[in-house]
Amino acid sequence: MSSLTFYGGVREIGGNKILVEDGGRRVWLDFGMSFSQSGRYFAEFLQPKKYNGVLDFLEVGLLPRLPDMGGFYRQDYLAHSGMETWDGAAYDGVFLSHAHADHSFYIHFLRREIPIYASEVSRQIMAAIETTSSSGFADFLNFKETFKLRPKKAGEGLMRVRGEESKLERDFRVIQEGEKVFIGDIAIEALAVNHSLPGAMGFIVHTSAGAVVYTGDLRFHGYGGDLTARFARKAAEAQPIALICEGTRIDEEAGLSEQDVQDRVGDVVQRTRNLVIANYPWKDIERMRSFYEVARTSGRRLALSLKQAYLLKLLEGTDAGAPSLDDDHVAIYIDRKDWGLITKPGYPRDIVEQDYEAWEREFLGYPNAVTCEDIHRDQGDFMVRIDFFDLTDLIDIRPAEGSCYIRSVTEPLDEEAEIELERAENWLKHFGLYPYHQIHASGHASGLEIKRLIAEIGPKVVFPVHTENPERFIDIVPGGMRVVIPEAGKKYTI
Ligand SMILES: [Zn+2]
Ligand SMILES: [Zn+2]
Repeated sequence: MSSLTFYGGVREIGGNKILVEDGGRRVWLDFGMSFSQSGRYFAEFLQPKKYNGVLDFLEVGLLPRLPDMGGFYRQDYLAHSGMETWDGAAYDGVFLSHAHADHSFYIHFLRREIPIYASEVSRQIMAAIETTSSSGFADFLNFKETFKLRPKKAGEGLMRVRGEESKLERDFRVIQEGEKVFIGDIAIEALAVNHSLPGAMGFIVHTSAGAVVYTGDLRFHGYGGDLTARFARKAAEAQPIALICEGTRIDEEAGLSEQDVQDRVGDVVQRTRNLVIANYPWKDIERMRSFYEVARTSGRRLALSLKQAYLLKLLEGTDAGAPSLDDDHVAIYIDRKDWGLITKPGYPRDIVEQDYEAWEREFLGYPNAVTCEDIHRDQGDFMVRIDFFDLTDLIDIRPAEGSCYIRSVTEPLDEEAEIELERAENWLKHFGLYPYHQIHASGHASGLEIKRLIAEIGPKVVFPVHTENPERFIDIVPGGMRVVIPEAGKKYTI
């Protein structure tokens, strides 16, 4: 018997956690964080407590209470909370469609021997997030064993095991595009799709009851070619019994494509004499490429943040399609931190380095490293990425008259995001960068595209996920096809 149970992504955008059971085997499609559920209980200074392990997350429903939890969640957390832990793993693996938080972040809470399957690009993005994030819940590739004591090396007594010493490797396995992974009677086939970050995949899960297709998140445009169209063809060939389909933009019409973004950014930059400042998602390599292409054709240099530079370093040699770090039109913007010594003459390198995290330091020595002073001096030569949390950098850079600001992220989706935008607007007004340009293309297919996708794949049943409006699917599926709107935690036999 095969079944599907949806523990996340139900009537919400993201937080996907879908359990596939077949012949005694249990695998997960994604294990992501739900922003909406998290926002209901937590805020910047109201956070789950580390000492409670998984308890705070279970309490408010961010992590599901599962049968056999003792063989699923990490033993260090369970044991510290006095919960049951098993000797072996009770689940067989987690397949990550892509590295966005709402699909992948909660693997942090899983015991380390449960295999995590993802594309090489997803693995590198998660490595970059793990290294650069300040969150205490980002053990993706490295599993930092917590709440452990060991005897002191010299003298009596005990000490806490921390840092490098606590690091163990997770069983993280790279799957190639087109590869099939066999787990008991289940075969999971991974296929690349277009999305707003590289390395995204959809899955065809071959169960004993038939094929189940999972879209992950996808769109039909982008520079990666027609990956999503190819995914749809392959999915149709499998003659699936079920399709688990994302519906983020089920109510929306087609918007801009990535190429449109590049064209419009190009127009704005052509009309800009001085500095071009942009905010776009740091992991969205396609967006980076759109800005990079404009920089290249307009004779500017695209100044990347340190985080982006680190990500590009990890993505070297992958098929992510990222610009090269040593390209003539790429610069690395070393923003001032801590004591701000990067722009103060006379300090030895090792002292300056102390303003930066270990992973940031090597970029200080790159020939294309630039500071706020370089950008201030040659404003017409740069396009620089400044995101919301770096807006104070405008004080260091001092954009001259004739500069512009391009906002290349999604429109605010909730009240909190609206307040954030208002704050950003105050900064932009203060520096004469208002009105700004809003130029963005979504990472998700439109309602019409989803309708066509479902018709082409032709499953018997559609399970809408990753949408606030699953009912809309009932209106758009072809006659004879059934829509089952999943309820959280309910098991559906297929
Ligand atoms: Zn998502
Ligand atoms: Zn996504």
